[in-house]
Formats: sequence, structure tokens, C-alpha cells
Amino acid sequence: MDSANRRLVVLPYVEDTPERIARVMRKHQVIPVAMTPVKTLKSLLVHPKDKQEKGEITDCVYKISCASCEKSYIGETGRKIGTRLKEQKTEVESITSKPFTRNQRASSLSEQNKSALTGHASHDNHVINWPASTILDRESDKSTRWIKEAVHIRKEGRQLLTSFFPNVYCLLGNP
Ligand SMILES: [Zn+2]
Repeated sequence: MDSANRRLVVLPYVEDTPERIARVMRKHQVIPVAMTPVKTLKSLLVHPKDKQEKGEITDCVYKISCASCEKSYIGETGRKIGTRLKEQKTEVESITSKPFTRNQRASSLSEQNKSALTGHASHDNHVINWPASTILDRESDKSTRWIKEAVHIRKEGRQLLTSFFPNVYCLLGNP
């Protein structure tokens, strides 16, 4: 083959399949092949040049922090993160903006089964730092996302606002 026509082909290194392809290519001297780990490919896909609007991101594990203390909340969603955060914000504001007494507020929270985040903002009169919300992980497979959520919850440890079993427990299945 004319060397001018040779092109460098970068294959994602996933399992042994691309390696086999590369071997065959080399054997037939078709194209010089460079292997690259998937991580590099992934980082190319999320290059800042074509950065997605943050609120439009779907399938992720996210973290919401309290502005008044060190506590935070970790959740996951398959929908747009912007939509999910808006919902949580509306929930927090619906409770914290009402002129309840402490007791009324507590019963209102339990009746409506509100999230731990809402409970924290309401009970401790803390302010949630919405703009500081971050995406910890992105994963389109629901089961894997639940596992990732649980991993992040475990990492966060005692500073986590949680009163529920993470979704990952659903993966254990019904007996
Ligand atoms: Zn707090």
C-alpha cells in the first residue's frame, strides 16, 4: 500500500475483540493501528468544545449540597438533571416557604413523605446550595446507575442526608 494513503486508525480498547481486529490489520499490513483505552475515547466525547448544557444531561447520579452545613444529598435520575433539580427545589420551597410551626411542619413532612433534603432544609432551617449541585456520574443503564448511586452514597458516609434505602436494593430482587 502507498504510504501516503495510510491512515492511523484509533480503535477503542474494550475487550479482546478490537485487539484481534488490530492483529488482523497488522498481519495484512492494511493500516497502522493504535490502541487507545476507552477512557480516552470517553474524554473525547465529553470534550468542552461540544459541551452539553448541564441541565440537559440525563442518566446521572447527582449531588446537592447544603449551604449552611457540610451535609449533602445524593440521588439519581434517568431524566434531565435540570428537571429533577427543579422538582426537588419546588418540594423544598413548598415546605420551607410556608409559615408552619415546627410541629405542623414535621407532620406535613411525614404526611407527604418528602425527601430527606426537604426534611433537612425544613427542620434545621438550612439553605440548599442549588447552583453548587454537581453530577457525580453518568450512566445510561439503570441498574448500573443504581449501583453507582449506592457507591457514591457509601463514599459520602455520615454527611449524607438520607432516610431511604438506595435504589440498588431493588436489584437484590424479590425472593
Ligand atoms: Zn444543612
